[in-house]
Amino acid sequence: MTKNYHIAAVPGDGIGHEIVPAGSRVLEAAASASGFGMHFDHFDYGAGYYKKHGVFMPADGLATLKDYDAILFGAVGLPDVDDTLPAKDYTFRVRTHFEQYVNYRPVRNWKGVQRPLRSKQPFDFVVVRENTEGEFVQVGSQVKPDSADGMGIDTSIFTRKGIERIAHYAFRLARTRRKHVTTVTKSNTLINSLTYWDRVIGEVAGQYLDVEHRYMYIDATSANFVLKPWIFDVVLTSNLFGDILSDLGGALMGSLGLGGSGNINPEKEYPSMFEPIHGSAPDIAGKGISNPVGMFWSVALMLEHLGESEAANAIMEATDKTLAAGYLPVDIGGSTGTEALADKVIQHL
Ligand code: ATP
Repeated sequence: MTKNYHIAAVPGDGIGHEIVPAGSRVLEAAASASGFGMHFDHFDYGAGYYKKHGVFMPADGLATLKDYDAILFGAVGLPDVDDTLPAKDYTFRVRTHFEQYVNYRPVRNWKGVQRPLRSKQPFDFVVVRENTEGEFVQVGSQVKPDSADGMGIDTSIFTRKGIERIAHYAFRLARTRRKHVTTVTKSNTLINSLTYWDRVIGEVAGQYLDVEHRYMYIDATSANFVLKPWIFDVVLTSNLFGDILSDLGGALMGSLGLGGSGNINPEKEYPSMFEPIHGSAPDIAGKGISNPVGMFWSVALMLEHLGESEAANAIMEATDKTLAAGYLPVDIGGSTGTEALADKVIQHL
């Protein structure tokens, strides 16, 4: 009997409604070429849902998503909805509830795509971002915000369990690559949380003596991303630093629209969620010009996670061929629309 995966598709808002259908088509085509099936159920969760129902997803939303093999996600957020809500009420809830503690964000140069760096030296690295704690736990308060003595407090939480599991993931990943981990830190100033981060990662590093390990401050890392990105292999970061560095990674490739990502529960106890690194880009939504390449990369990462490496590689190769043949989306100087680009990738599969 043909194997069939059940995928929860959550386009969200804005260009999520363009890239998720394009990505689903590519996914289906790759699956059928490799002899397995993909079944999609669609969920209208997001800021649009919030405008109608006052919540980003229904009370049983997480219980519903839990039964799927994976979640294919576009982006959430609309200009007329409070910008603090999408992460709190959708993205962080899914990531935390499903123990998706790895945010896997690869960066590489694409053939045929002009990048902002003058150097032609190739680069290929992965930002492994801790995805459930750190600076984004949203523990804190605002005290007397309207008074002259007002203040805002956010607390970062770094637990041994949280640090150890992301560190083990990064070192195991490095063993499958060029065996090099760079731990991003700022322990010279964040002397409690990040000194502890450094210490626990150092202990884990001691169990992987075949992997080279170094620490790098976030300020130096940002500079090195631009000056010599080829020195990186696996970049292990906290939640906030990884958020910023992966957008910088997208920019290094030539556009935010090129970056794919996976929110991964490595133990596969819960579904993992795959999404491009960009947001809902309401300024270009509805025009059919959004760049779907980050979404194609995300569906390839999904297939890899599901154990379908052959189909995953086929999508990456077909995307490479499409871009190298000069079919480029508008944000990187081309004129190929979202759907037309999906058609070209499917032809190249
Ligand atoms: P978020 O905070 O959710 O990451 P954001 O407000 O930082 O979102 P994005 O939605 O990621 O912003 O987009 C920033 C800009 O980059 C958009 O306004 C859009 O012009 C461009 N952009 C992002 N993604 C794409 C894409 N896939 N194709 C084309 N342009 C894009």
